[in-house]
Amino acid sequence: MYSKNKIDSFIKESPILKEIIDLKPVAWLNPNKKKMAEMPSFPIKKEEMEAAEQLWHRFAPFFVKAFPETAATDGILESPLKEIQKMKTLLNQESSMMQGRLFLKCDNALPFAGSIKARGGFFEVLHYAEQLALNAGILKKDDDYSILTSDQFRKFFSKYKIGVGSTGNLGLSIGIISAKLGFQVTVYVSGDAKKWKKDLLRSKGVEVIEFEGDFSKAILAGRQKTNSDPMGYFVDDENSNELFLGYTVGAIRLAKQLEEANIKVDAEHPLFVYSPCGVGGSPGGTAFGLKKIYGDNVHCFYVEPTHSPAVLTGLVTGEMSNISVHDIGIDNKTEADGLAVGRPSNFATNISNHIISGEYTIEDDRLFVLLAQLMDTEQIFLEPSATAGLIGPQMIAKTDYAAKHNINMENATHIAWATGGDLVPDEERKEFYKKGCSSLV
Ligand SMILES: *Cc1c(COP(=O)(O)O)cnc(C)c1O
Repeated sequence: MYSKNKIDSFIKESPILKEIIDLKPVAWLNPNKKKMAEMPSFPIKKEEMEAAEQLWHRFAPFFVKAFPETAATDGILESPLKEIQKMKTLLNQESSMMQGRLFLKCDNALPFAGSIKARGGFFEVLHYAEQLALNAGILKKDDDYSILTSDQFRKFFSKYKIGVGSTGNLGLSIGIISAKLGFQVTVYVSGDAKKWKKDLLRSKGVEVIEFEGDFSKAILAGRQKTNSDPMGYFVDDENSNELFLGYTVGAIRLAKQLEEANIKVDAEHPLFVYSPCGVGGSPGGTAFGLKKIYGDNVHCFYVEPTHSPAVLTGLVTGEMSNISVHDIGIDNKTEADGLAVGRPSNFATNISNHIISGEYTIEDDRLFVLLAQLMDTEQIFLEPSATAGLIGPQMIAKTDYAAKHNINMENATHIAWATGGDLVPDEERKEFYKKGCSSLV
């Protein structure tokens, strides 16, 4: 635990921590960010990221068979990249600081999972299923993977149990794909998880175990319970290679979309990406991938709620996953359930420490306002967590980041990573929208 003296010494070193503790929206530039030429070596390599992309291609025939609606994209699950010109105009009426073009990476529309968890969560389960089948000698990598939908395979997978701790979306992605393959699945959810998410999971045959208290408790219990079973496999959001790898593929796909749209990324055309951050796995994976592709010409920023700045606290203090927001007196209570995380991922945070340009925090009210504004201007619905990246360009424009790095922002491409939304039921959508409108003046 951290004494008051210890916290005071952190504050002395990084005065911004005082504002974080006082729940003020802040913008922080990362002093530990490295140029590509001086980047340390990481536990994940570019080849693994490319191998991860290959796994998705092997599974494409499985998706076409298991989810016929994916036939139109040949079994590849991807989301659109959309320019949101009207939203940009509206944001610039409030504070005219955004130069360049503004895009939305619409992971709210990723098939079935309706969130960015379709990248990491699906990937980890597919990877595990493939390993099991390869090791059992019933599958070869050059087989047509549509055979995985057969009764023989479902029966084979049904001997195994998958467990996961989740605030909701990760549980949904793991639950949906595991149940489809035939695994037994248990999702350990925290107190923040929304009722509709639990109901939806149960309707798919997933066992849901609820915990009072926050995400770390649900993870801890789930990890112990699952790992004590010899047939159990735990998807560990606080420490998973495979989740991270699944997210890196998002970068490969985004780069392809930018190329198709004739959007240049180089020293004169910088790319800025703003990602909502929970434990730091999804923003870490995509940022890592983008850095591997674009090097110093991509600038990655994370955003967390003022009440759940888990990764920011770990990075600012240098304590990484040893510290939680509770240690500095923050309650981890936010309506942004995808981001309601008190302690960051160990694996991802150590990587983020060197690759991200910075972070900012956002108040819950603002998330709802953005939700309503995006509906009004672009008719796109996002869940509250997923809107957080939209003010990125303006938050960063308030800092000296561009001046310090000699960046001309006129040709910048900004991408707000919209991380979820499509599974939210109509009732909740209406409520969120109303809430956003009532905060608008
Ligand atoms: C999970 C999630 C995030 C954050 O991902 P982490 O890997 O926890 O950092 C952001 N937005 C939504 C909607 C999510 O479900």
